[in-house]
Amino acid sequence: PRPDAPGRQRAAKAPPARLIIAVGSGKGGVGKSTVAANLAAACAKAGLATGLMDADIYGPSAPRLFGLTKVPGLKKSDAGIEPVEAHGVKVVSMGFLVGERDPVVWRGPMVTGAVRQFMDDVNWGGLDVLIVDMPPGTGDVQLALAQGTPITGAVVVSTPQNLALDDAKKAMALFERTRIPVLGMVENMSYFICPHCGEGSEIFGRGGARAEAEHLGIPFLGEIPLHPALREASDRGELIVLKGGPVAQAFERAADAMLH
Ligand code: ADP
Repeated sequence: PRPDAPGRQRAAKAPPARLIIAVGSGKGGVGKSTVAANLAAACAKAGLATGLMDADIYGPSAPRLFGLTKVPGLKKSDAGIEPVEAHGVKVVSMGFLVGERDPVVWRGPMVTGAVRQFMDDVNWGGLDVLIVDMPPGTGDVQLALAQGTPITGAVVVSTPQNLALDDAKKAMALFERTRIPVLGMVENMSYFICPHCGEGSEIFGRGGARAEAEHLGIPFLGEIPLHPALREASDRGELIVLKGGPVAQAFERAADAMLH
């Protein structure tokens, strides 16, 4: 848009990051939050100033994934709401404001307000990359994001099963409708790596997401294997990408593809 176009005035404040990347999926349980957290940590590991905004207001995962379940709330300074740093990533999540077992019962406009605050009022401090962990499906959060700070693009996470792929296509259509370009697709749980013998097996059939991405003309960013160590690390609040091994390498390759 032209610099004097309406809506431009609101962007007077510097955006929180040079690159703002939304990580979404059509449905829950495909590992979207796990992928978002590890992509963020991979960026930080590569030396980029990185933040993760957990925009899943109703079901925040960042506190558990980053080992931050005991954070007693968010502090405010003159510069704004202060994010919490873990594994080299600055994190903000609704989970820091409500108890782990308290459901968030909010109407759409309140969710929109929370997302805008996380984007505009947090002292992100001039990041290179801000990863936004989107809630699954469609709705208020996508619209709230589309209305403010420009999002560089979206990464869509899918599993190889057809059903999950169909949902991923819907997620992509929604991003496109809200003018957020799709940067590419990551296939999670692509194949199983046996923790005993290290051998891979293709439980759901491999290559579905790659073929679908090619068909849709969007870049395929990589395959993340299904590995028990990934779930175990996540449950302990550790990020596997920082621990080395085949799963870590898969995340590093995907992050690299996402940034280029
Ligand atoms: P979503 O954000 O899509 O709802 P999560 O990231 O919360 O999904 O992941 C759902 C569950 O699957 C979690 O227990 C997570 O640890 C596990 N998981 C995700 N990806 C993998 C993987 N590649 N290998 C093993 N477990 C995984």
